[in-house]
Amino acid sequence: MAGVNERWSARTRAIVAGRPSGPGQPMNVPITPASMLGLEYSREDGTPTWAAFETALGELEGGEAVAFASGIATASAVLDSHAVGATVVVPRDSYAGTRSYFAHEQETGRITVVSVDPTDTGAWLDAAADAELLWLESPTNPSLYVTDIAAIAREVRSWERRPTIVVDNTFATPLGQQPLGLGADVVVHSATKFIGGHSDLLLGVAVSNDPARVTALRRARTLIGATPGALEAFLALRGLRTLPVRFAEASATAALLAERLTGHSVVNRVRYPGYGAMLSFEVADANSADRICRELQLVQHATSLGGVESTVERRAARPGDAHVAEGLLRLSVGLEDPEDLWDDLNRALCSVN
Ligand SMILES: *Cc1c(COP(=O)(O)O)cnc(C)c1O
Repeated sequence: MAGVNERWSARTRAIVAGRPSGPGQPMNVPITPASMLGLEYSREDGTPTWAAFETALGELEGGEAVAFASGIATASAVLDSHAVGATVVVPRDSYAGTRSYFAHEQETGRITVVSVDPTDTGAWLDAAADAELLWLESPTNPSLYVTDIAAIAREVRSWERRPTIVVDNTFATPLGQQPLGLGADVVVHSATKFIGGHSDLLLGVAVSNDPARVTALRRARTLIGATPGALEAFLALRGLRTLPVRFAEASATAALLAERLTGHSVVNRVRYPGYGAMLSFEVADANSADRICRELQLVQHATSLGGVESTVERRAARPGDAHVAEGLLRLSVGLEDPEDLWDDLNRALCSVN
């Protein structure tokens, strides 16, 4: 693999990391559609395609990365290294699929789940005292609450017996924050979203700078069989190359839209953490929000997020997100021209009266 200079910025490292080195090598590690490489079996030993993606993502997050079949497969691998009966603390507002997964593991007797207000550091610390795993997500999906990762990690790391600190960094991306540097033990991503960036794959990844945890994650992948696809890993790395540039552009547009939405008469509340490409805004009720989704022409009315195309969804319409306001619309800001996006949003908002 090509060498990465420590002094290079993330933008440069995203371009350079995980490439073959030496004369005559292909520019990109090719897709290896193989279940075996001689005596190595792909589920156990990985493939060069996964390794290239893992090298590049690990470079951006500041640790060693392990790729999985999806974001949820990653969660399941992280949980797998904790004993039956573990107490897991999760934010009350967070990705619905992750909460459903943990709820299911509780129903089947695997774990005990404790939910806390994501913004309440004291509540996290109270719950952490009896927990094996803290599952942070910041900013949260879909309400964009921010958790003080550094404050929680600083306190918890001083304890003799302490829970594992995991941060779902899907919304922030490694360009927005690097949780390992803030004291987290493991960072996880749904690479399906911003890392892949083109809404054409499912993939997950976990990153740690603790060799024992990395070994446990690889072992969990082997045991559960939650392995990434060859094409998916290739595409995710292709997406990762442009992540810094995409994220900077989309974040600038999101900040602009957040500001304009704040001044709009139809909008009651804008939720924007001040960085990143995700924002949510609230209108009066479900009917108004549904109307806006129907009126939008450029912004796609679609679930999921993190692609080059902007998408909007009324999250309370989903069973897993019944706790959010009926009129909350989650907007994933893509790479269209900001003024075209604003024209579309403004026209759709003005149709509600
Ligand atoms: C989508 C998402 C996940 C789940 O990832 P999949 O790739 O769909 O399994 C986890 N966390 C967050 C914040 C997400 O948005």
